[in-house]
Order: sequence, then structure tokens, then C-alpha cells
Amino acid sequence: MITEKMYEKMAELAVRKGVNVQLGQPLVVSGSIRDAAFVKLVVRKAYEAGAGSVVVKWDDQELTKMHYTYQTKESLAEVPDWMYDREKYEQEKGAAYLRILSDKPGGLKDVDPEKMNAAQQAYYTKMADLMSYRMNNIGQWCILGVPSQEWAEVVFPELDPAEAYEKLGKAIFDVTRVREDNDPVQEWEEHNQELIRHAEQMTEYQFDCLHFTSGLGTDVTVELVKDHVWVGGGCTTSKGVFFIPNMPTEEVFCMPLKTGVNGIVYASKPLNYMGKVIEDFWFKFENGKVVDFDAKKEKEALQKLLEFDEGSSYLGEVALVPYDSPISQSGVLFFNTLYDENAACHLALGRAYPENLKGGTEMSPEELAEHGSNQSMEHEDFMFGTADMSIDGIQKDGTVVPVFRNGNFVF
Ligand code: ZN
Ligand code: ZN
Repeated sequence: MITEKMYEKMAELAVRKGVNVQLGQPLVVSGSIRDAAFVKLVVRKAYEAGAGSVVVKWDDQELTKMHYTYQTKESLAEVPDWMYDREKYEQEKGAAYLRILSDKPGGLKDVDPEKMNAAQQAYYTKMADLMSYRMNNIGQWCILGVPSQEWAEVVFPELDPAEAYEKLGKAIFDVTRVREDNDPVQEWEEHNQELIRHAEQMTEYQFDCLHFTSGLGTDVTVELVKDHVWVGGGCTTSKGVFFIPNMPTEEVFCMPLKTGVNGIVYASKPLNYMGKVIEDFWFKFENGKVVDFDAKKEKEALQKLLEFDEGSSYLGEVALVPYDSPISQSGVLFFNTLYDENAACHLALGRAYPENLKGGTEMSPEELAEHGSNQSMEHEDFMFGTADMSIDGIQKDGTVVPVFRNGNFVF
């Protein structure tokens, strides 16, 4: 049973540990009208934690679908100035951003991908110079999920609706480390220490490349940029505020060299991209670029992703997640990247995170590109980790160091 007390703990965790809102700081919360009660709880907890002002941006998946269905492509691609101005204002005020998600996976699957593409392109183009606020961790941001009936029925279609809701709810609270009888803030403290330990160890090795193999057929070598930094757990803003961008998080991640990926990668979980669930897919990489691919379901959506822009057919992230992490152990396929990306080792097509390069958050896009960092308006994670995944780290002098055996860290 998910109790009111657990929701309170979840809201408190989001505000104090997730975005870590500071005294007098503005907070922008995005949430669905279906989660109105929880959003209000979050707003209250944020004020109690000292937030100066809290603004809520409401959304609704059904309305979004109507907009996509009835508006023309041209109309959807028109991003009003006030949208840009509002976000610029928030950023100038040093706002923190908290997003609460509970949407139905695949809820927009009937929408024309051309339209969605056009709207996304236009949005990212308009907002381009505001994206570094989150990408470079200038201000705190956090994404957190809560259960919804619509979501539960996609995850557990075989159960009756009440049971499905209960089961998804339990899974979400469990993997976010919120239980009736624990102190989630304390548990997150310890969990973070472990992630930081792995990240620091990986950074110390400064591997030239990682070689991944799995029983699914994956056999790929991912070269890392020079002076790379593995990151895990939380991040620190340029003002020195520690925050946790993803709740849950189980990954330590790094920056692949844009042109240094070779081999074949078989996905181990479906990918929910722009409302479509892509299944059983693989990519073949040559010098970093996807040169061939296939999918048993929604291949067209995958093609859209690869053709989104020049960088969306190159990798921007390589992330290690132990097979014995709670999400993986829950055995639940959430059909949502926030959760599923934390169930398995993954790669991301699209832009890289500047924080994964020493001094990267201070670099211009041109400087980042010179260091081999991929640039794109997309960043889409897909899972390829398995219970039998092996990873070898190869050092500059050719020394091979086992990193993963049977899906888990060796050290
Ligand atoms: Zn990741
Ligand atoms: Zn990612």
C-alpha cells in the first residue's frame, strides 16, 4: 500500500535531495494535471524548504495529443517569443527545475512523427542558447516519477486496473528508495557514495576504450575522449549546489569519442521515443556513426531519431549500470527511460554531457567538438546491458582490465 506518508517522503526527497532548493530560490515545477494532489504537496514542501517562489507548469497528455492531431505542422513549429522569454527570465533569476512525470508510455504513438519532429526541432532551435542551463548544470534540475493508472495498465496489462496501479506504485517507490519505514534522504546519501566511488575509480583508470560483449550479440568498442570524467550520483552547479538530476539513478556515465565507436550493439530493452515503443533493434557503428540498423517494431521511428540531425547518429554517452541494481532486480519494464535506463548499461545517441570532459562545462560548443564531443539537439538513451554483459577496459599501453563480469562491477 502506498500511503500518504510515503507521498510526503517522496515530495520531500524531490525538493531537498533532488533539486535541493536553496533559501529564497525560485522553483519551477512541471507536472500533469492528473498528479495535481502530489504537485501541490511538492509545492508545499518546497516552500517549507525555503523556496522563494514556486511556479507550476501544468500539462496534460490528452491535450498534447489533440494539439498534435488538429494543428498543422506549420502551426506546431511556431514557438512563441514569450515561451523563450519566460524561460530566460527564470534562468536569470537562478531558478531550479523539477519535473514530475507519470505519462502513459506510448500515449502519443498515433501522432504523425513528421509533426512531432517539426515541433521538437522548432522548440530546440528556439531554445538553443537556454539549453546549457541544464546541460552544463548552471542551475539545479531533477526529474522524478510517480505512478498513474494509465501508466500502470501499460506496464501490467494482464492485471486488473487496481492491482496494476498498486504494483507499479510499489515498484516506483521501491526503486526511488522511499518506504513507509525508512529515511530516504539518508539512504540516498549512502547510495550516492557508492556511485561516486565507482565514478572516481573509472576516471582514475583513464581507459583508452571499453570493449562490451553480451550473449545478445553485442560486440562493440567504445573509445573515450581524452581527459574524460566519469560521473555518477549527483552533480554540483557552478554555484556549488549539489543536486540529483535523475531519481532514481544507478548509472555512472562518460563521454565516448564521437568518431571512436566500432562494432555492433543489440538493444536489451524497448525504447520509448516520441511516444512510440521501438522493439528488438540493433545498430552497427563505423568510426562512431550508425551505418546500419534494424528494428522488429517501429523501425520508422528509429530512422527518424537517426536522421534528426547530424549528431543523432553518433553516440554522446556510455553508461554503466550493475545488473544487481534495484530496477534491474525489480524485473519491471517501465517503458520509461528514467527507470529503464537505470536497469541496464546504456548508450545514448545525440549530444554528450560537457561535464564528462575535464573543463568541459567551460568550453564553447566548438571547443567541445574539437575534443571529440558529439553535438546534437537529441539525446536518446537505449539499453544494451544484460545479465551476462562483460566489459573490459583497455589502457593506453594495451593492458586489459576487467570492469564488468556477469553484468556487475568487478571492483
Ligand atoms: Zn545515462
Ligand atoms: Zn542519457
